[in-house]
Amino acid sequence: MKLVTKFNSLLEGEQSFDTAPKITFFILILGGIHTAFIVLFLWLRIWVMVDVNIISLLIYSISYFSKLKNNYKWLTILLYSEVMLHTLCATFTIGNKSGFHLYLIGLVPAVYYIAYNAKAKQQKLSAWKLSLLSLILYVIVKAIDNCHEPLYQLSTKQYFLLYYMNILITYIAVVYVMTLFATAVCMAEKKLKAINKKLKTLANTDPLTELSNRRGMEKRLEKAILEANENVSTFSIIIADIDDFKQLNDTYGHECGDFILIRIAEILKDQVRNKDFVCRWGGEEILILLSDCKIDSGATIAEKLRIIIEETEIEYDKEFVHFTMTFGVQEYIPGSTAEDIIRMADMKLYKGKKKGKNCVISQL
Ligand code: GH3
Ligand code: MG
Ligand code: MG
Repeated sequence: MKLVTKFNSLLEGEQSFDTAPKITFFILILGGIHTAFIVLFLWLRIWVMVDVNIISLLIYSISYFSKLKNNYKWLTILLYSEVMLHTLCATFTIGNKSGFHLYLIGLVPAVYYIAYNAKAKQQKLSAWKLSLLSLILYVIVKAIDNCHEPLYQLSTKQYFLLYYMNILITYIAVVYVMTLFATAVCMAEKKLKAINKKLKTLANTDPLTELSNRRGMEKRLEKAILEANENVSTFSIIIADIDDFKQLNDTYGHECGDFILIRIAEILKDQVRNKDFVCRWGGEEILILLSDCKIDSGATIAEKLRIIIEETEIEYDKEFVHFTMTFGVQEYIPGSTAEDIIRMADMKLYKGKKKGKNCVISQL
């Protein structure tokens, strides 16, 4: 069951995909920016904005030190409330010429990124509704700015500097969030590809013996037939079945039977060439595809395998277990299908069983 366990742990790893450190870093940056704003407004002597930025800093400190940073819904509510409060206060006190309202638009990519991560944690968040809220707030703030004279008037140079500072901060925040997004998508794609590869292997692998399963062999056989027809070459198959396996299970237990199946798979795989292909065809049946191999060589290989299996002794639960296998060998006949070849090999196997088992049959 090794493969299945490996696959499950892979899936577990995928679920624990975590972007929390990146969001924490973002909160820290926002806290830093508002600390800088406190200094800026102290210097400009705009006390209301000093107070507002102290509140902003408090909000980000709460987000940073509490568990809120893992609750994306609350984090978004806090983020929106803070930006709204800050934008409205900046509009009333110094007006939109300062450019603080730009953060409402800068919020849009951030909320999409947060919603993307919230989804991975089964938390629901509607990014498009929030981005629409940003637009509505932007329009409201603009309207307020048009009808309301700000409490403070800064110099043209101060407005110019503030506006370009805010554009720069918004731009950097957008680029940062978009980079996080691009990285997250790339990582997800990479992980998905790795899972798909594992899934493909798993779909063609027998979990007990880790040999290819019937599906894998069917594909290989179709390929071998095509190649044989194109290159006018040939191949052979060996179908091998454990003798009296039911009795073996009854005597030593099903777990011992499993152990023997695993051992047989290892032996057979070790004994054939790299270009040959071994699969678990059914319960206690193994099918081997021998490339570029005529019936005589196939029969010789099967006989070698039969002797090795016969001479193998497996120690299980302080007992030595002996077992044998019967083999049917069939060479590809041009024009025949995969089913035809297997059926003929099966007939030979059946003949071997009737003949007394532990033998190789290559001729009917
Ligand atoms: P024969 O020599 O004619 O092949 O006799 P047999 O007992 O090997 O064949 P039969 O078809 O009567 O029984 C096959 C047995 O193989 C029965 C089944 O429980 C066992 N078997 C099939 N798959 C597994 C497996 O994954 N693990 C174990 N332990 N036993 C299995
Ligand atoms: Mg059997
Ligand atoms: Mg059988």
